[in-house]
Amino acid sequence: MTIIDKILCRPCIFCAIVEGSTPTTLIYKDDEIAAFNDINPAAETHILIVPVDHVKSVKTLTTDHIPLLEKMHQKGIDLLKERGHDPEQSRLGFHVPPFNTVDHLHLHVVGGAMKSNFRKLKYETGRMWYMDLTQLQANLDKKRRLQEGARL
Ligand code: 5GP
Ligand code: ZN
Repeated sequence: MTIIDKILCRPCIFCAIVEGSTPTTLIYKDDEIAAFNDINPAAETHILIVPVDHVKSVKTLTTDHIPLLEKMHQKGIDLLKERGHDPEQSRLGFHVPPFNTVDHLHLHVVGGAMKSNFRKLKYETGRMWYMDLTQLQANLDKKRRLQEGARL
C-alpha cells in the first residue's frame, strides 16, 4: 500500500485480487501464493505471482522469506513452461522500490515477445530497478550477515 492509499483508506489492490473481491481471474492459488495476469502486459505472457499474506516489497523481506520466494519462482517457471516459453529466455523479477508501483510484493513472470524496447529495459534483470531471485537471495544473505555482525 502507498502512503496515499493509507491516507485515503484505500485497500491494497493485490490483497483484494487474492481475496477474490475483484473481477480478476486467478490462474493459481494455494495457502501461500496466488497468480494472475498483469492488467497491462509487457509481453505475450505477463503473470504476477504474489504472496497471499500482504508483504510490502523486496525491502521488507528477510532470509525467512526465501522458501516463499523460491516457491513463487518455481510457480513462475511452471506457468511459463505450460505456456510454451523457455524460462531461460524469460524475465522473472521484482521491481525494487522506488521503481515499483504496487506495494504488495509481486514476482513478474514475463515470457515471449516483448511489447516495446522500453519494456525490455524495464524488465531487464541485473539492473538496479529489477532483481531476479538469485540477486534477491544474495541481498538478503548480505543483510542478515550485516545484522549478525552489528549484534556482535
Ligand atoms: P510494479 O510496477 O509494481 O513492478 O508492477 C505492478 C504491476 O501491477 C504492473 O505491471 C501493473 O500493470 C499491474 N497492475 C496494477 N494494477 C493492477 C490490477 O488492478 N490488476 C492487475 N491484474 N494488474 C495490475
Ligand atoms: Zn496487499
